[in-house]
Amino acid sequence: MLCLIAAQSVLSAQTASAVTNAATLFPLREVRLLDGPVQVQQEMNRRYLLKLEPDRLLSWFRREAGLEPKAPPYRGWESESPQLPGHILGFYLSGAAMMVQATGDEELHYRLDYIVDQLAEVQAANGSGYMLAVPGGKKIFADIAAGQIQIGGLPWTGYQINGNFEPTYTLNKLMLGLYQVYLATGNEKAKQVLIRLADWFGHNVLDALNDAQVQTLLDCEHGSINESFAEVFQLTGDRKYLVWARRLCHERMLQPLAANDGKFLDHYHANTQIPKFTGFEAVYALNGERELDAAAVNFWNDVVSNRSWVIGGNGANEHFFPTNDFDQALHAAAGPESCNSVNMLRLTEALYQLHPSVALMDYYERTLFNHILAVHDPERGMFAYYTGMQPGSYRVYSDEFDSMWCCVGTGLEVPGKYGQMIFTHTPDNSALDVNLFIAAELNWPEKQVKVTQETQFPAQEGVKLKFICEKPNTKFALRIRHPWWVPDGKLQLKVNGRVVRDDSRNGEYAEINKNWRTGDTVEVQLPMHLSCQALPGDEHYVALLYGPIVLSGELGRSGGLSKEDFWQIHDTLGRKNLPESRMPMFLVEEPADILSHVQAVPGEPLTFEADGLTISNRVRLIPFFQNHFQRYAIYWRCLTPEEFQSERSRQALTAQHKREIEAQTVDQVRIGDEASETAHHLKSSRSFDGPGSSDDDAPTHWRDARDGGWFSYDLKIVSDFPVILRSTYWGQDGGERTFDILVDGQKVTTLSLKDTGHREFYDIDVPLAAELLAGKNSVTVTFQARPNNTAGGLFDLRIVKKSP
Ligand SMILES: [Zn+2]
Repeated sequence: MLCLIAAQSVLSAQTASAVTNAATLFPLREVRLLDGPVQVQQEMNRRYLLKLEPDRLLSWFRREAGLEPKAPPYRGWESESPQLPGHILGFYLSGAAMMVQATGDEELHYRLDYIVDQLAEVQAANGSGYMLAVPGGKKIFADIAAGQIQIGGLPWTGYQINGNFEPTYTLNKLMLGLYQVYLATGNEKAKQVLIRLADWFGHNVLDALNDAQVQTLLDCEHGSINESFAEVFQLTGDRKYLVWARRLCHERMLQPLAANDGKFLDHYHANTQIPKFTGFEAVYALNGERELDAAAVNFWNDVVSNRSWVIGGNGANEHFFPTNDFDQALHAAAGPESCNSVNMLRLTEALYQLHPSVALMDYYERTLFNHILAVHDPERGMFAYYTGMQPGSYRVYSDEFDSMWCCVGTGLEVPGKYGQMIFTHTPDNSALDVNLFIAAELNWPEKQVKVTQETQFPAQEGVKLKFICEKPNTKFALRIRHPWWVPDGKLQLKVNGRVVRDDSRNGEYAEINKNWRTGDTVEVQLPMHLSCQALPGDEHYVALLYGPIVLSGELGRSGGLSKEDFWQIHDTLGRKNLPESRMPMFLVEEPADILSHVQAVPGEPLTFEADGLTISNRVRLIPFFQNHFQRYAIYWRCLTPEEFQSERSRQALTAQHKREIEAQTVDQVRIGDEASETAHHLKSSRSFDGPGSSDDDAPTHWRDARDGGWFSYDLKIVSDFPVILRSTYWGQDGGERTFDILVDGQKVTTLSLKDTGHREFYDIDVPLAAELLAGKNSVTVTFQARPNNTAGGLFDLRIVKKSP
């Protein structure tokens, strides 16, 4: 077993916090998970951490320091577009450090020491304290320090600084990782490397910039770099780090959220924002500035109450959307991103220590069981990026070594800390809180008490706590979270077999204050029931839950899905989406009536069957976190029989219109469909493609070209017959979008797309002159972006016959 230094107690001796904690977390080494779904996933993740090779993770770091790499780098986001080399190492350090604490794994501990030694060598070779893997990073930061700071992707998604992907984001991930290594293992070298890195950035970059320039820098995604500097202040007690931490708080987010502007987050890239607020809370804990706390609290409330799906995830297509647009966002192929939820849990942990509440832990439980656990595939332990919300969606998981997406990073980070919030205690050790119902064993050294929580939850509707007290009659209050899904008066507590409480209400802790002794047991009954939750703003979509567990329909692999479709190197979402009209829906007078169509399957916990559906007579429902490798429904569409009939008629009209267009179409490129784009000889430069809508009869993907880039296709024409070039765009794509369309190298039009304010597609028709077509069978159509402009996004492209 490892000898772990109690680094956390060392920290508090060095810096006095401005704000007193109201709840204290146990160090991860004091909590061991016991048999259950959470422990199974932690173990699978531990094995994956051991498969990753430190020398490959370190490859770019050595190369940038002028040292010979010892192994090639990983591919995917570590090496290819969007290039974020080194980001995975930061997540690896955090995840492995917490895993070492949580499991005592000695091999991982050895690897962390090895990586820290290697990073120290890299840092020494760089000379200045700098040690990033970013290609050309020294030049990038020298330019920044000289005041050259151009942010790409504004206003909603700052993702580049002077054309480089997020160098301050990877800096932050590395700093967070080094800090976790020091906390978990007491590695003194990790602390020194971290402090030198902070000094380099503080003195060489931040001190060279005025506050306005720092704020411009913060317009690019930077994780929680303010939190990292707050952590270095805690390590050193040197106030310069706290001053830097405060300068690194992004005012663009701070002011509106402190003022509780509920619309402000609309359209912003979600995962870029979430970590900033964890940083605000970290700085507030140290300097007592209430505005920072207010912003973090208001942000959490806004995201959780107004911007989250039933599984706890938030956003669509990576962005926050207006809170009355859930019905539109439901059809986005890119549903909530896993990263967001991992970072919302971090924010919840930070808030809980200062403002503990049942509401925080209700959200934590919902998100942990219904999103976080659900994005790890149970066979290889890989990670989903997006979780589609439209009925019939399916998840795609990463490749083990060649994807390295952001959500692979957060997927590595989180399982090591599954034990973090199960138990907490008051700072004066007068009370122990049981927040989560997960089988685990707690060692509480200050009280010389061990507590074992036995449960098969969520397959079991209750837990049993067993106590071992080294001293007889150890006094403390035991407080059990009364969760939102247990009605008032239904949570029953038995001490040593005798009912002592059944009067608590949800939203509070059920408390027993007594002298505890070895052999005491507490049984907690947590009765679950079926409930439904409508999509905000649209009762035609309803989700089903049993207790806190989101149930999902098992919808199989229709539409040509095979097992291998569920793991992808590059594609972060499924390309074989089906229209929702091909998925079963409930025909009911009132949405809540669906509850009468759902019955438990005897002998199979958490398993149900639904009837009263279109298409399928009966559908099996299982917890979403256990529903993998097939299509699923989380939100069910519910129509009255009359609504269903009128929809049928509308579909018939749309189909008729579509047939007329098809009859006129000479050639069509299905954008984003690899076979179609290849058949049309796609050529491109600085071109991107991605998912759009998966509505019935609407285009599903887009392609664009950015900042002077272009893309082209060859399309068939009918020789000597008048034709039109029809291109399709999305009404809310605005910003700088001026571009030329060329046919065989000759400009036929210049377009400047504007945000029309309408959430719908529109076509632009360009008649092609006869002399352009004479004697040809095909033409090359090129979309050429102007500098600093985007061409597209193009959703559909056709040659159609001109009506007579
Ligand atoms: Zn992500």
